Amino acid sequence: MEADGVDVLMLSVGSDLPYFCGYEAMPLERITMLVVPRDGDATLVLPGLEAARVTERPELFSVKGWGETEDPIAIIADLAGPAREVAIGDHMWAGFLVDLTKQMPNSSFRRASTITSPIRQVKDGEEVERLRAAAAAVDRIAERLQSGAIALVGQTEAQVSAELGRQIVEEGHDRVNFAIVASGPNAASPHHHAGDRVIQSGENVLCDFGGTMIGDDGVGYCSDLTRNVWTDGRPDRDYLEAYAVLHEAQAAAVRAATVGTPAQDVDRAARQRIVDAGYGSYFIHRTGHGIGVEAHEDPYIVEGNATPLAAGNAFSIEPGIYIPGKWGMRLEDIVVAADDGPDPLNTVDHHLAVLG
Ligand code: ZN
Ligand code: ZN
Ligand code: ZN
Repeated sequence: MEADGVDVLMLSVGSDLPYFCGYEAMPLERITMLVVPRDGDATLVLPGLEAARVTERPELFSVKGWGETEDPIAIIADLAGPAREVAIGDHMWAGFLVDLTKQMPNSSFRRASTITSPIRQVKDGEEVERLRAAAAAVDRIAERLQSGAIALVGQTEAQVSAELGRQIVEEGHDRVNFAIVASGPNAASPHHHAGDRVIQSGENVLCDFGGTMIGDDGVGYCSDLTRNVWTDGRPDRDYLEAYAVLHEAQAAAVRAATVGTPAQDVDRAARQRIVDAGYGSYFIHRTGHGIGVEAHEDPYIVEGNATPLAAGNAFSIEPGIYIPGKWGMRLEDIVVAADDGPDPLNTVDHHLAVLG
């Protein structure tokens, strides 16, 4: 905060708050705000009726509950004092920010991520182990998917999505973040919303799923994995050819993810192979995103991000090929840039699983 000239940090709904103090604000109309002055003590301001939810951490912050007829914006502004530069949580609700700007007309506001992201994107050993545990949990689900133990043919995408969600929780996650199930031509839409389509025999199914595993300290870490299966019989030749390209592209990007490599070079490693094989215009998204307490966070593995990977960065590597009207495929693992090389957290089989 000192280096950035920030006088006070304010954190509310979003992942910064639980990351730093183990408490997650209720995303409701009553405001919760951790006020951290650069040279003072931190205070967690929250609705009085929610005070019992907080485990007090006197060495970190004190707790101030506000009553139903009090003005929490005035309390927060008072704690901030004459702060000129305020760094405020990126996911704070706009309505609260509008009220704060009125209450603090002489302050300027910037995104808290300028302070919090450099801290959050470097995972220490314990954080990596938590990410590894979440990754292992979704790997076990993918194994069942690839062995045919999860019913597909005759089920709707929504039914399979619900089953994946059930298994995500059963495998130890506290929250399901998403369970994309995209069959046949639907898989050409990378963020397809699982719907009523009944899965057929002899077609592709893309499953991209993950959740959040919350530890005893209230801090949760995410999983995120994509695998593809062919439901029955011999896969189409064009699908098999593209899958071989995708498999090689994904592996090449994982190998490229070493400490000191610019993030965009990891994207290029995957993209070059897909372009060379003639599918370049069908790889319509970046190669990956950071992961931690949030499913998507810094660093982004994308052209234009020349920041070198640092030891402890954790991110997805998930190239895809999407042919509109025909099929789509994506292969995704979470990888940590470690001092002794790329450390893939997901190890479940990368080959196309052919069922039936
Ligand atoms: Zn995505
Ligand atoms: Zn994913
Ligand atoms: Zn992802």
